[in-house]
Amino acid sequence: MSKKIIPIIQTANRLDNWLATTQMQTTTGSLLDTRQRPLQDLRISVTDRCNFRCTYCMPKEVFNKDYPYLPHGDLLSFEEILRIAQLFVAHGVRKIRLTGGEPLLRKNIEDLVAMLSVLRTVDGEAIDLTLTTNGALLGRKAQALKDAGLSRITVSLDALDDTMFKRMNDVDFPVGDVLDGIRAASTAGFTNIKINMVVKGGTNDQEVIPMARYFKSSGHILRFIEYMDVGASNGWKLDEVVPSAEIIEKLEQAGMRLQPLGSQSASETATRWQHSDGQGEIGFISSVSQAFCHSCSRARLSTQGKLYTCLFASEGHDLRALLRHQQEDQVDQRLSHLIAQVWQTRDDHYSEMRHQQTDLTQRKKIEMSYIGG
Ligand code: SAM
Ligand code: SF4
Ligand code: SF4
Repeated sequence: MSKKIIPIIQTANRLDNWLATTQMQTTTGSLLDTRQRPLQDLRISVTDRCNFRCTYCMPKEVFNKDYPYLPHGDLLSFEEILRIAQLFVAHGVRKIRLTGGEPLLRKNIEDLVAMLSVLRTVDGEAIDLTLTTNGALLGRKAQALKDAGLSRITVSLDALDDTMFKRMNDVDFPVGDVLDGIRAASTAGFTNIKINMVVKGGTNDQEVIPMARYFKSSGHILRFIEYMDVGASNGWKLDEVVPSAEIIEKLEQAGMRLQPLGSQSASETATRWQHSDGQGEIGFISSVSQAFCHSCSRARLSTQGKLYTCLFASEGHDLRALLRHQQEDQVDQRLSHLIAQVWQTRDDHYSEMRHQQTDLTQRKKIEMSYIGG
């Protein structure tokens, strides 16, 4: 028996014992955790690889040729992803986001989109199926993604200035190609495209105003994201976080007047604003300065099939072990039960505790490229 199989079987046995002690729960329609937060969103990481080396996410020094990326056989297949996603939807998930690593690097990703797009919520509505990409391959893929049934798209873009953009992606990728990708997404029929900019103090913060001006009348929604202490590789420092309040101040000093917009759903991560002339929505994702754990309804499925209930979790729950090592007729029931158990015992609220417990930021955390942003 190969070394790699042993721990998986052991995990499956441990899960067996645990599941045997609790009553089976399947297709509940809705699940609440210990803080009364419903399970509504599922983020699925389809690859741990990326063609960028953003310094705040996959710095070159760590993610180099010696980095132990997952072998292909460790990744969930599209059929496995669909099977697990169906169980989450039966537990109340309404929105699925494909992410990574860079999701457009996963071969035939549009096939997975087509498979997931037919899912219906427990109320019979279409699933809100979205994808977050760095945009590098969007020019080539946008139409296929739209045709496959992707509902919406988010593009990450940290600068408009080409030199700064290349500094952020650290692989010399030109900003013009990402802007072409965004145009291709528009042409393919995507609307309300979201543009995510991570603002890192002392690095790309001078790009805030050009970005706000550029996207004001584009029809796209620009969102500023506070730099977070995810993973263990980016050397995060609190003084490099630019709080959203400071960005609003910067925009106002530059002559832009903003007015708040109401939130569209309770679990929304961004606070929404628009220019006072009614043109251009701007969002702020203030994970550090104004934690939104109280409404966090997101579960995350890692590239190799582990379930995480928080971006800052240290350990995941191995769904793949159950999926690949159980007898066929029991698999779905057991997986469904495990998902319910995990969610109903969830108490995560890392961002609310970050400032209270200084040792917290030092604890072991998984990488964003593995778990998906
Ligand atoms: N590669 C795709 C992309 O960049 O859009 C998808 C995966 S990426 C991990 C998802 C999102 O996480 C991106 O918008 C990225 O900017 C954000 N992100 C990564 N590391 C971050 C950090 N340390 N703080 C805040 N956001 C981060
Ligand atoms: Fe890649 Fe996205 Fe991470 Fe940048 S943020 S390194 S594009 S996964
Ligand atoms: Fe959700 Fe964890 Fe982020 Fe809080 S810290 S919003 S619980 S992912």
